[in-house]
Parts: sequence; structure tokens; C-alpha cells
Amino acid sequence: MSSKIERGLKFIGREALKHVGRNLPLEGKRWLYRTSLDSDAWQIKRKAVLKAAGYRCRCGNHATEVHHETYERVFNERLSDLTAMCRVCHQAEHSKSDGDRKYEKRT
Ligand SMILES: [Zn+2]
Ligand SMILES: [Zn+2]
Repeated sequence: MSSKIERGLKFIGREALKHVGRNLPLEGKRWLYRTSLDSDAWQIKRKAVLKAAGYRCRCGNHATEVHHETYERVFNERLSDLTAMCRVCHQAEHSKSDGDRKYEKRT
């Protein structure tokens, strides 16, 4: 897929979520969420979260991933909605929660 088309899809994804938000079927949410993870804005945000946490997970390991405590404000998260985690804690966090909070492989 060309990057131009990809950028277009990301834009459509963000716009669509603004309008339909929580009424979107789960698969649609996942798709939109995935496209948002590729965005520059997300990369900047996740770095800010990791930096604010001193790249430390709550277990003391080096944090490399960012977990969404809530998807209420997905695309427009507050830093408090996000938690820096190591891979192990992140996977554990998702294995105890429901399908809607599926592990975000790319974070
Ligand atoms: Zn997560
Ligand atoms: Zn950890």
C-alpha cells in the first residue's frame, strides 16, 4: 500500500471514530486503533509516556511499551490514560482483561 493511501486511511480512521465513537463494532474499533498506532502523534505520545515514567515499569524492569488504561479517549488520550510497562507486565495486564482490551502488539 502506498504511503499516500495509508495516510488517507489514517485520516479517515480518526475522523470516523470522532463521529461513530463507541457505537463502532469491536472489529472496526480494532482496525481504527491499529491505524492510529502507526501515526506520528502516537509515537510522540508513547515516547512522552515512557520518558515521564523514566523508562521504568511498575515491576522495576525497563519499560518499552505503553498500555491504555482506558480507550475512552483513544486518539486523544491524556497522559494519565497511558502507563509505561515492560512486555511481560503488559501481556499480563491484557491476559486478565477482556477482548476489547486486547494486547496492542505494536506499542
Ligand atoms: Zn495495553
Ligand atoms: Zn513490568
